[in-house]
Amino acid sequence: MKCAHCNGPLEFRREDRLYSECGLDNILLKDAEIGECQVCHARTYVVPHPQVLNASIARTLALKPSLLTGKEIRFLRKHLGYSGVDYAKQVGVSAETVSRWENERLEMGWSNELLLRMTVLMRLRLKSYDAYDNSFEEEPFKNFEGVNKDKNMRGPAGLEFNIHENRWRHGPVIVSNAA
Ligand SMILES: [Zn+2]
Repeated sequence: MKCAHCNGPLEFRREDRLYSECGLDNILLKDAEIGECQVCHARTYVVPHPQVLNASIARTLALKPSLLTGKEIRFLRKHLGYSGVDYAKQVGVSAETVSRWENERLEMGWSNELLLRMTVLMRLRLKSYDAYDNSFEEEPFKNFEGVNKDKNMRGPAGLEFNIHENRWRHGPVIVSNAA
């Protein structure tokens, strides 16, 4: 692997870093591989099995025990492969409404959030990326019984991921309160 900017040689090391390129602020990758260009010092991030990692994040957010933040809504919508315009068409709202949900200028409301979460779980089950990450209740609504729907308790979900024996594993979901 060479530097994408100057084609210079990379020197690899491992350090903890935030997976900010996924659009979320609180996803920590432990011992992530980072290549630093020996010429221009640009950093190249290596993420093995990004589809599996993203599916694991999506599954965690779909089952998150408090309401989704705007960035989490955006992550899940993109994970489903929809543009904002296309997602809006699918669920019967305007594109501006989706944009306002994602910018937190409009409450999504539990019915719309439930639809998004259910769609993500359905997609994960169909794609079956990872058996461990696909364990959820057969009775659909049971998966969400424990969700705290208090807006004041909404905060971004934090996750720490390790890659172990070629599989992504995460610790407990830490939800910080926005307030
Ligand atoms: Zn370079």
